[in-house]
Amino acid sequence: MRAVLEARRPGAGAGYDRFMGIAERMHEITERYFFWKPIGGIWDAILGAEGSKMATLAELMDVRLGRSTAALIRQHIPDEQAAQMFDHYCQYVGSAPDLSPAVLSSIASIQAREGVWYPMGGTGAVPAALRKLAGEFGVEFRSAADVRRIVVDGGRVTGIELTDGERVPLEAVVSNCDAVRTHTELVGGEAEQRFLRRRRFEPACSGVVLYLGLKERYEHLLHHNFVFSRDPHEEFESIYRQGEPASDPTVYVCCPSLTEPGVAPDGGEALYLLVHTPYMRAHHDWKKMLPDYRQVILDKLKRCAGMTDLEERIVFEHSLTPQDIHDRYRVLDGAIYGTASHGTWVGATKPSNRSPDVAGLYLAGGAANPGPGMPMVMMSGWIAADALDRDQVKAARAA
Ligand SMILES: Cc1cc2nc3c(=O)[nH]c(=O)nc-3n(C[C@H](O)[C@H](O)[C@H](O)COP(=O)(O)OP(=O)(O)OC[C@H]3O[C@@H](n4cnc5c(N)ncnc54)[C@H](O)[C@@H]3O)c2cc1C
Repeated sequence: MRAVLEARRPGAGAGYDRFMGIAERMHEITERYFFWKPIGGIWDAILGAEGSKMATLAELMDVRLGRSTAALIRQHIPDEQAAQMFDHYCQYVGSAPDLSPAVLSSIASIQAREGVWYPMGGTGAVPAALRKLAGEFGVEFRSAADVRRIVVDGGRVTGIELTDGERVPLEAVVSNCDAVRTHTELVGGEAEQRFLRRRRFEPACSGVVLYLGLKERYEHLLHHNFVFSRDPHEEFESIYRQGEPASDPTVYVCCPSLTEPGVAPDGGEALYLLVHTPYMRAHHDWKKMLPDYRQVILDKLKRCAGMTDLEERIVFEHSLTPQDIHDRYRVLDGAIYGTASHGTWVGATKPSNRSPDVAGLYLAGGAANPGPGMPMVMMSGWIAADALDRDQVKAARAA
């Protein structure tokens, strides 16, 4: 990366090194104060830290609170096209780089250091493996159950109620339904009011996915490819400020058969195209919008990605719109990545995994600490389970 950037612009390699040094330091701090703990904000991180609070505060200054990711990137990477590439780390959490805190640059360090991994069988192989493992430990799964309400009595969880009327008594509930919807639709009452008063949450971006079966693969494509918009400012302005799909979007193009040949017939490709769009607004009717936006995406690839005969190669097609995502996963206004990380002081933090409002309620998933995306969501599950376990041990000792 350093050599490529240096070749584009003398001095850019050193700028990249400086940026990655800062990103690495931010990752260290994040690991120490924000990851693996049920924190719900910067004060929880400071109050929960061992040792001097002043020393903690001094260390936290290294995450450059009050600065945006876009500003930090451009300070060290002035080449606008290279900066646009680094901006896209913020897209992993569905947020605008100029509205998000600089600490999200730590994603650059995590990706470069730990690499990009592919579970054979695709992303779904991860929950399938977890389910198998949990089953071996005797966990009972009821995946068709539809939860209508989390029952709270005297400020404590006592169970859940299903839409078919069944009541399941429980000592604790871990909800990985969206954190805002957990409170507004499942919990309600005073706990909902306290949750909503604490902070205003904005949904992260949504997206359109085209799943294309191609009869012939494009040999120049890698497993992961980004085809960037001509102007990131214009693109992010559309998605995050105007709330309209970008007319010239960035397209993530995934060709999984390069890593797992079995996902496509010989010589063909199971192409996955993802374009970020705004979360759903009242006037968005994706049944009407999809045909035109599909064409915008295909035209972009025909124009900019050397895929001029793309439409002739398509033998299978399926799509997912913000409305489909909203209905299928019951997220916040179609948001793919929980709540947006907007706000250069508080944007990076999410609701705590241990509810401060209801005893026995724990939050996991993309809208809970530490945030969205598969790695963070897996961590959120670990944190919620750990917090529950600690509370149970404490209660047993006190009894
Ligand atoms: C199109 C798309 C592309 C993405 N790409 C990436 C990517 O490349 N990399 C990455 O890391 N992340 C990606 N993500 C994000 C990642 O998938 C999410 O962050 C993650 O799946 C969120 O996990 P979760 O447990 O919070 O929610 P979910 O996986 O949505 O699980 C919550 C489940 O709870 C169910 N549910 C909700 N309410 C109820 C109820 N009342 N009763 C019963 N069930 C209920 C929902 O139906 C859903 O099945 C993508 C997401 C989408 C939609």
